[in-house]
Amino acid sequence: MIEKSLYDNYQIDFSDSITPTNDDILFVFNDDRELHLTEDNELPKTLDDFDVDFCLFIGEYNGRRAFAVNVKTTDSFNPLPEVYEFSHDLYHIAGKAVLVRDWYISHRFCGKCGAKTQLDEKDMMMKCPSCGQNHYPRIAPAIIVAIRKGDELLMAKHSYHDNIRYALIAGFVEPGESIEEAVHREVLEEVGVKIKNLKYQRSQSWPFPNSLMLAFTADYDSGDIKVDGDEIVKAKWFKKDEIIRYGSDISISDWLIQEFIDSV
Ligand SMILES: [Zn+2]
Repeated sequence: MIEKSLYDNYQIDFSDSITPTNDDILFVFNDDRELHLTEDNELPKTLDDFDVDFCLFIGEYNGRRAFAVNVKTTDSFNPLPEVYEFSHDLYHIAGKAVLVRDWYISHRFCGKCGAKTQLDEKDMMMKCPSCGQNHYPRIAPAIIVAIRKGDELLMAKHSYHDNIRYALIAGFVEPGESIEEAVHREVLEEVGVKIKNLKYQRSQSWPFPNSLMLAFTADYDSGDIKVDGDEIVKAKWFKKDEIIRYGSDISISDWLIQEFIDSV
C-alpha cells in the first residue's frame, strides 16, 4: 500500500512539440502496458533503440521532464506489479504515466464523429476539430469494503480467482449512483447481507485498467449470506487467523485486511 504522494512537484503541461533529451524520465510501454527497464532495472536514457509510436510530455517531476512513450515491439517488458517489487516510487509514477498513455491511445479519434483529435496544449484533453467534443481521461471509480461482525471479517470467493483465494467485496460504481449507494448495492448483490456504519477510509489509484479504488469499512447489520453462485461462488466469515495473506500484495484491499487484523 502506497502511503505518500510523489506529485508535489508534478505539473501537467501538454505540448506535443516537446521532445525528450538527456536526463529526461522516459516511461516506455509496449502495447501490453508493460514498462521497459534496462538490465539494471532502470528507465532507458534514450529512445534511439525503439520504434516510437507516440511520445507525450506529461510534465515535470522533481525538476526533470517526464514522457509517456508507446513503442511498437513484440518484446515483453515489465508488468507494473513486478516493478513495485523493487521500486515503489517508480511503480507509482509509472502508474500515472500508463493511465495518460491509455487515454491518449483510446482517444486519437473522436468517439462521437470519428475525426482525428488534437491534443490540447494545456489540459489533459483531446479536442475534436470537427464536432467540438472534448475527450478527457476516464477514471472508473470502484468501491471495496471490509465488513466486520465482532472479530470476524466477511470475504467472498470470486469465480475469476483461483480456488483458494477469498477477497473483500468490491465492485464498480454504476452511472447515477453515489459511492455509498454503490457499496450497499454491491454487498447486497454479492453476498445478500445488509451493512451499517459505513465509513470511508482512503483511496488508491489502481491502473488495472483505470480504477480509483475507494476503501470503506462497515459493520454487519442483518441477513444471511447468500451468493449468486455465478460471480461469487462462496462467502464466509473469517477470524483473523484464518485469513490467507499474499506476500507482495500492493492493493488497498490488503491494507484493509491488515487494518482488520491489527484491530482484533
Ligand atoms: Zn468529433
